[in-house]
Amino acid sequence: MTAPLEAMPTDWQSCLAIVAHPDDLEYGAAAAVATWTDRGAEVGYLLVTRGEAGIDGIDPSRCAPLREKEQRASAEVVGVRSVEFLDHRDGVIEYGVGLRRDLTAAIRRHRPELVLTLNHQDTWGGTYWNSPDHRAVGRAVLDAAGDAGNRWIFTDLADDGLEPWGGVRWVAVAGSPNPTHAVDVSEGFERGVRSLLAHRAYIEGLTDEDPETYCRNFLTGTTRSAASRFGGRPATTFELFPR
Ligand SMILES: [Zn+2]
Repeated sequence: MTAPLEAMPTDWQSCLAIVAHPDDLEYGAAAAVATWTDRGAEVGYLLVTRGEAGIDGIDPSRCAPLREKEQRASAEVVGVRSVEFLDHRDGVIEYGVGLRRDLTAAIRRHRPELVLTLNHQDTWGGTYWNSPDHRAVGRAVLDAAGDAGNRWIFTDLADDGLEPWGGVRWVAVAGSPNPTHAVDVSEGFERGVRSLLAHRAYIEGLTDEDPETYCRNFLTGTTRSAASRFGGRPATTFELFPR
């Protein structure tokens, strides 16, 4: 658990980040995304839902457009212009062939070298249970990275002009309890804070704490705890699955 983390690969140009909900990327990965877009890499976001079931006090019909707007603002802070939504239902995303097909289509359209997602494992570590949406999407992303390259899976996608893409070199899982790699976020940290803070309605529904203090404290805690395994540098961690 305390072995040093390796630096994430940097010899790539295109990344597609696929997660279940608005805010999933902002609890850590966004600070790394900022460092990637700084060096000219293209990063796109694909949200499987609009996060409409995420705020207790706001009805889903009003919540969906609000969270979409916050996600777009949040992406812009870290240099991401492409933000798409798949409109699966928040809270009840089903792992299965339908989800794998939707993600395969997106991967074939974007043709990324790096695919990024959020923790697909049962827990966040210890006994802190992960959500069913995160598990379903994370696992489907890991699967779809392979499906995208197989001509004989989802043949109707090729009929629609989405040719196989076997160019995914890694899937990086943010928030994994078993990280293997890290990104130094000294440069991206402040934008990471502002990117999380862009989910203001969500955070105000979550905590009575001042939103900026909440965002800064959360990201300071996680990036500092990773530093002990990454040469003392504040870091965001990933479990990296090469392909
Ligand atoms: Zn989530």
